[in-house]
Amino acid sequence: MTVHLRPRPLADRAVREFKMFIDGQHVSGSDGRTMDRVGPAHGVVVSRYHVASTKDADRAIAAARRAFDEGDWPRRTAADRARVLLRAAEIIEARADEIALLDTLESGKPISQAKGEIAGSVDIWRYAAALARDLHGESYNTLGDGTLGVVLREAIGVVSIITPWNFPFLIVSQKLPFALAAGCTCVVKPSELTSGSTLLLGEILTQAGLPAGAVNIIAGTGAEAGAPLTSHPDVDMVSFTGSTGIGKLTMSNAAATLKKVSLELGGKNPQVVFPDADLEAFVDAAVFGAYFNAGECCNAGSRLILHADIADEVVARIAELSRQVRVGDPLDPTTKVGAIISTAHLDKIASYVDGATRAGATVYVGGGPLDLGAGQFMAPTILTGVLPDMAVAREEVFGPVLSVLTFGTTEEAINIANAIDYGLSASVWSRDIDTCLAIGRRVRAGTVWVNTFMDGASELPFGGYRQSGLGRELGRHAVEDYTETKTLNLHIGARTNWWVPRT
Ligand code: NAD
Repeated sequence: MTVHLRPRPLADRAVREFKMFIDGQHVSGSDGRTMDRVGPAHGVVVSRYHVASTKDADRAIAAARRAFDEGDWPRRTAADRARVLLRAAEIIEARADEIALLDTLESGKPISQAKGEIAGSVDIWRYAAALARDLHGESYNTLGDGTLGVVLREAIGVVSIITPWNFPFLIVSQKLPFALAAGCTCVVKPSELTSGSTLLLGEILTQAGLPAGAVNIIAGTGAEAGAPLTSHPDVDMVSFTGSTGIGKLTMSNAAATLKKVSLELGGKNPQVVFPDADLEAFVDAAVFGAYFNAGECCNAGSRLILHADIADEVVARIAELSRQVRVGDPLDPTTKVGAIISTAHLDKIASYVDGATRAGATVYVGGGPLDLGAGQFMAPTILTGVLPDMAVAREEVFGPVLSVLTFGTTEEAINIANAIDYGLSASVWSRDIDTCLAIGRRVRAGTVWVNTFMDGASELPFGGYRQSGLGRELGRHAVEDYTETKTLNLHIGARTNWWVPRT
């Protein structure tokens, strides 16, 4: 039986209240509205955010514009910008427990995992600081005596950063320090469900020495506070992480003023397993890939593509581990699967499972919501007999639901893996290097793991093919994404006239 941990009441915890951060000031929205966040595990209000109207979004954009056009942040040396980022990393590290607790209370994710995400975020801020000092262009001294070509990298300008609820602090950390490293100024809008840890950044960045206006953080809904950030003419680039649907909307809103757009969107990621794989390692990775962050993860390994010869044995072993997973109170340090973000989202997950069974799939383990006395939870679920054309095999369920498909030949495995609109990540499991490379090279995904799943490092680029997104985050080019390229073409000596010959 899966171990269920009933959430304990949050004894005497005061609701944390967060103002927005515009032009270096912690401010309320112009119409004084606030929004309460009810924690998904505990069912009580855990945070209160002051929210932005469209007018407030415009104010935040104006502050970022001024800070870019007239302020000193873009003009400081890279060494100076790096110092601010390093100081921010130190403060985040010192406040890691507080930030992790906020993310856990607002998102329902296990506290042990939230702490890991904050530690990972600190590393990213430090990595961005290192890259800041290595940002440079090119020079061409090969164009003849009369020409010197200099290619400059300039900060692109004002960047809007819009983030989802599933990794609140980690995802803003995959964007903001790189934009700042390049010399950009920013307006950040976190998800309305998990804004607390991002709003804390205002205080942290001020303490780290960031000038007023260089980062502005607003809370509120996507339609009201988010949409202006994607269409306002004073914004030069939008960096968005979220659903593919809102990603498309973002791109079309940005098209009117031809902003640069970077999109990190959904995934439906296959794990392809051959009979010669280390099955013990894979079974653990299957459970991790499916249930990590309650499956509310763009990288979730939600589609197992198992060789038919091993499918029955492997599914039985995954089921055995699935039944031992500890689900429930995210504040218990032993919990592995926390709460589902909202009741509406839980209904959506359950309806995918129902739809799959109606289409002929079988619930092997789990299958529905769990009543743990407070909040909303979903049982880790395995569906067998899933066919490639079923919705549960093609669409992002975003819950702890594993779909099992089978294959006979390598070619068939590749075809099933690629037969979806997404292309975020994938894995291959085999001890044969030829098999690993065949899958690694032909599966259309931004990351392919070989004999592992969901590992990552600040140095490794991350992003999607096809409808999983546009552009890459992290890695050595992450700062360049926030720049424009300018050519300085310098003429040396007398110029040969086009029309009137020199005498
Ligand atoms: P979402 O698209 O509903 O919301 C994301 C953000 O966009 C939120 O801040 C929201 O308020 C804002 N938004 C909503 N409507 C908007 C609009 N009209 N204009 C501007 N902003 C708007 O996504 P979500 O439910 O918060 O997050 C889950 C999704 O995020 C999943 O699809 C998941 O795969 C994806 N995701 C992708 C990655 C990645 O790196 N590829 C990482 C995490 C999450």
